[in-house]
This record gives sequence, structure tokens and C-alpha cells, in this order.
Amino acid sequence: MQAAIVPVTPFQQNCTLMWCEETMQGAVVDPGGEIDRLISIVEEQGIKLVKILVTHGHIDHAGGVADLADRLEIPIEGPHKDDQFWIDGLAEQGDRFGTGEPARSFTPDRWLEGGDTVSFGNVTLQVRHCPGHTPGHVIFFHEELRVAQVGDVLFQGSIGRTDFPKGDHATLLASIKNELWPLGDDVTFIPGHGPTSTFGQERRTNPFVADG
Ligand SMILES: [Zn+2]
Ligand SMILES: [Zn+2]
Repeated sequence: MQAAIVPVTPFQQNCTLMWCEETMQGAVVDPGGEIDRLISIVEEQGIKLVKILVTHGHIDHAGGVADLADRLEIPIEGPHKDDQFWIDGLAEQGDRFGTGEPARSFTPDRWLEGGDTVSFGNVTLQVRHCPGHTPGHVIFFHEELRVAQVGDVLFQGSIGRTDFPKGDHATLLASIKNELWPLGDDVTFIPGHGPTSTFGQERRTNPFVADG
């Protein structure tokens, strides 16, 4: 598998293209906006997008999902159904937080749960349910490459906000410790915003979740 990070929207959200080098079939995680730019990059790289994956229903992550799915006629997988209220409110989120592009709600072709897998080409990703930032937040993990896309659960040196409706700080900490750490200290993660890091690095230095 190959991956490329494409920050999108004024929130500089780390939309991530992932593709199978054997088949050139790919998936895009969290196309929050700038759909024209994403489609050009995909075409330049010779990737055939077959799937949209969504970590959670915030507009900077999900604002472009409906448009991209319509334009490419590809299915949407994720997030967990507990984020339905966020997805239903995408247009209103656009009015309040403004990515500069109109956003539409959508119905995923498949809601995801912890323990599920998603695939494209010969690539399979594991799904973990990590509530706290939003109740239906999921993350995607490639076991062989030791890479995870964790959305707004964990950042280099920080963690996701929990002051939104149905956000919960203790639940987020439990998600990080029970769902992320067991994947391994060597795992590199792509956060929803900012630079990549490893779980081991965060367990040593992140003031919110470092070990004892
Ligand atoms: Zn978020
Ligand atoms: Zn975000």
C-alpha cells in the first residue's frame, strides 16, 4: 500500500489517499473539501478511487464526501452510526464553521463498527471504534505497514477536542489507551491535523496521554 496526505480546507485537514500498488485501486479517507484538487491528484497518480472512508462526521472531514461520491459513483464506508447526527447536520456545520464550500449530508453505504475491515485492491484495513471526540469516530489501521489514520482522536502532542455535543474526555482517553496503544508503539499515525508521529512517541511525551 502507498499513502499520500493531502491537507484540505482552511482547517488543513489531513485527507489521505491510500492505494494498492498492485491494482492501483485506492480509497480516500476524509475528503473534507477541495474535491476538484483531490480528483486531479488521483488522476495524476493513475489511481482508480473505489471507495470513500470517513473517520467521523465533522465538516472538515466529511464536507466533501457527498459530492465526491456522486461525481465518481463510489461507495461511502464509515463512520460508526453514532455519528449520524453530525452527518445529518453537515449543512448547518457549514454555516457555523464555514469551510468556504457548501456541504451536504449523506447516508453511508456501510456504517462501520470496531472489528470490521475495509478493503480496496489487495489492501485490507482494520477498523477500530474510538468514541470521545465524536461518539461514532472510527480509525483505520494497516497492520503490515504499521500505519494508522486516526482522524481527530490523537495528534502529535495533543488529543481531540471533547467540548462538542456528545464529546467526552474520559471516553476519549479510554479509546486511546484501549484501542490505539495495543496496536503497538511502532505504529506511525496520520492525525486529522498536523504532523505524523508514532504511538510510542506519544506514550512518552504527550502531556494528555503519556504513560504514568
Ligand atoms: Zn473532528
Ligand atoms: Zn478535524
